[in-house]
Amino acid sequence: MLPPLPRYRAEQVFAWINSGVDSFEAMNNLPLALRRELDSCFCLRKTSLVKKLEDGGGAVKLQIGVSGGMVEAVVLVDGAGRRTACLSTQLGCAMGCIFCKTGLMGFARNLDGAEITEQFYHIRKFYPDIANIVFMGMGEPLLNLGELRRALDVLCHTMSPRRVTVSTCGLADGIISLADEGPAVRLAVSLTSAREDLRGRLMPVSAANPLWRLKEALRYHQARQRRRITLEAALLGGINTGAEDAAAIAAFAEGLDIVINLIPWNPVENLSFEGRPLKEPSAAELGRFCAELGKRGLKTVLRRGKGRGISGACGQLGAAGKDSP
Ligand code: SF4
Repeated sequence: MLPPLPRYRAEQVFAWINSGVDSFEAMNNLPLALRRELDSCFCLRKTSLVKKLEDGGGAVKLQIGVSGGMVEAVVLVDGAGRRTACLSTQLGCAMGCIFCKTGLMGFARNLDGAEITEQFYHIRKFYPDIANIVFMGMGEPLLNLGELRRALDVLCHTMSPRRVTVSTCGLADGIISLADEGPAVRLAVSLTSAREDLRGRLMPVSAANPLWRLKEALRYHQARQRRRITLEAALLGGINTGAEDAAAIAAFAEGLDIVINLIPWNPVENLSFEGRPLKEPSAAELGRFCAELGKRGLKTVLRRGKGRGISGACGQLGAAGKDSP
């Protein structure tokens, strides 16, 4: 049992943890006896780095061992050299979006706050200059909101909430909870299709969260948080890239301040839609769809599949074992 310590000791320890050290031994502004005492009372890491994969273009994927399996966290770099850490919140995912590898894995369990936070610390050891955090890795963050908030309590000491984005597949109750209770992070929603019937066939979440309910939640969030919301659309060749799809997105977006991230589907083996293998949209299809959205005055950003070479792009996460790519 530790004797009471002055407050500044806690601040020193927290600063060390935030800097990414993984042992009390390394905290060299603490007396040696205290470091030993801390080591005997506390565990500084409950996860371990298993593998680091790099694609040569700046994208990096870390496979991190947690109790019962492995989660993946990704670092992506933009044209200006800014790095974004993409973190996971669950081991697997129960939402079953048909275009996503994590959905194919099924759900094992929620990660706890420490397991979420430590992904960032593993990344920071290699890249101390992370500019943004996005929760777009494995799992549905809003189904693990309590532990996500615990992680953000810590992470937002070093990262402004404005630089943090939480992405959901469209859980209206979770969006309202974020609007009411925060934290005031940015919100992204995987819309994929604004045609009710098609969305229902692509994303089982929409059965309990139909488009009208999702839109109501987004309106509420925007009225409370006063932030632009990102809508994401995974573009599936021949499925959700027609003129009627663009028109439906435009109708859904009416009255909302949004930007649309267009994500050409990143290939994953064994994923199909109603008996047909999924495919990427062709360049011509993509061009036509972007033009249709532009014609309707929508702001779009095309997200090319960074990290594909290491199965680290959007929708490709889901390491099953130590030798997974
Ligand atoms: S896209 Fe997100 S919510 Fe959907 S199955 Fe994949 S990880 Fe889960």
